[in-house]
Amino acid sequence: MLQVTVIGGGVMGAATACFLARDHGAAVTIVERDPSYARASSSLSLSSIRQQFSQPVNMALSRWSIEFLRRAPSELATADDRPALGLVEPGYLYLATAAGAATLRQVHAVQRAEGVDVALLSPAELAARFPWLAVDDLALGSLGLSGEGWFDGPALHRAFQRKAGACGARFIQAEALGFERRGDLVTGVRCAGGTRIGGDAFVIAAGAWSAPLGQALGCHLPVAAKKRDVFVLETPAALPGCPLVIDPSGVWFRTEGRLILAGGPPRGADTDEPPLHDIDHGLFEERLWPALAARVPALQALRLRSAWAGYYEMNAFDHNGIAGRLPGYANAFAACGFSGHGMQQSPAVGHSMARLIAGMDAPLIAALTPQRLIDGRPLHEANII
Ligand SMILES: Cc1cc2nc3c(=O)[nH]c(=O)nc-3n(C[C@H](O)[C@H](O)[C@H](O)COP(=O)(O)OP(=O)(O)OC[C@H]3O[C@@H](n4cnc5c(N)ncnc54)[C@H](O)[C@@H]3O)c2cc1C
Repeated sequence: MLQVTVIGGGVMGAATACFLARDHGAAVTIVERDPSYARASSSLSLSSIRQQFSQPVNMALSRWSIEFLRRAPSELATADDRPALGLVEPGYLYLATAAGAATLRQVHAVQRAEGVDVALLSPAELAARFPWLAVDDLALGSLGLSGEGWFDGPALHRAFQRKAGACGARFIQAEALGFERRGDLVTGVRCAGGTRIGGDAFVIAAGAWSAPLGQALGCHLPVAAKKRDVFVLETPAALPGCPLVIDPSGVWFRTEGRLILAGGPPRGADTDEPPLHDIDHGLFEERLWPALAARVPALQALRLRSAWAGYYEMNAFDHNGIAGRLPGYANAFAACGFSGHGMQQSPAVGHSMARLIAGMDAPLIAALTPQRLIDGRPLHEANII
């Protein structure tokens, strides 16, 4: 029986473990240093899914994943659980002024060629569809017509963990520090406290904290923890049919029940791993609130209820996930650095990683190979939120 050790029990590690145990009968050990997942990206995610990327690999991963999410209650059912993920599909709406319209059209052509269900809307069409939206300064909008929306990410994370556990995976609380090797084979993980865990294959799925583990194998994984703030807003205004809107200013918002969630690009230096409690309230006052009130006049009556922050596991090389076998190793793999779009990709990536580790082909993640870091072949994603 194939024995696999996965470092990191976030959604990527849990999904990989789940498919390995469920589909390939592997004996999986998940090494997680903090079973509360308090700082894990998977606990602090906005958990939205879109097809509107600029790179075909991201469109393909999200297409596979939305189909899986629709079936997830049965795919991830266990004897005593049928997970409810609360998936809704109101779409994403990218807005552009005249300055951004040409780029939106270019990306649209790539998306249509890949079969993405997306439409370009004129300002008049936007106003007719979303009467609460101010369109005077807009030239164009790009609306996802299906396969885009949001879901309960922590519930998906738990469902992968439970299903993996039901298929025999075991979770160990420990911090992985390094590896034991023999030639191009990794033979074990060394953990704090002296524990050693063996296996036939090893996966680094430690999210924003993957770089030191890569370094322990001599592999540069250019992933760092970049804080992103999310603001929770109350408003008496109703925004029927509201998609996840990305304003030309970079500010985004979506509904969550009767609340509104909003955020935007960070102000100032994007330092590595600042404290999560250090919310930038100036970002809300000076950037978000003015942009929201201008785009949706009804939001002038808005009230800040709370805020949270989490870390994007940012891949500085090209803002895309790193998934596949580590160069120079026969049995060491990575699935990390998804740069703010890992929650939605976790079903497709976990499924593909499991196939790869089991010795099968995994064309869906071929473009995300770690080899591209060495070859200097970046896969730049233009649509980063
Ligand atoms: C504010 C915010 C909004 C987001 N919005 C979206 C979105 O709308 N859509 C989307 O798709 N994605 C979104 N994301 C990104 C998404 O949440 C992440 O891409 C995804 O959760 C990454 O999962 P992961 O398992 O790789 O990392 P994590 O969830 O961080 O898990 C990594 C785990 O590894 C453990 N670990 C680290 N080092 C070690 C070690 N040495 N030994 C043992 N364990 C270790 C950590 O404790 C952690 O539990 C968002 C993220 C944030 C923060």
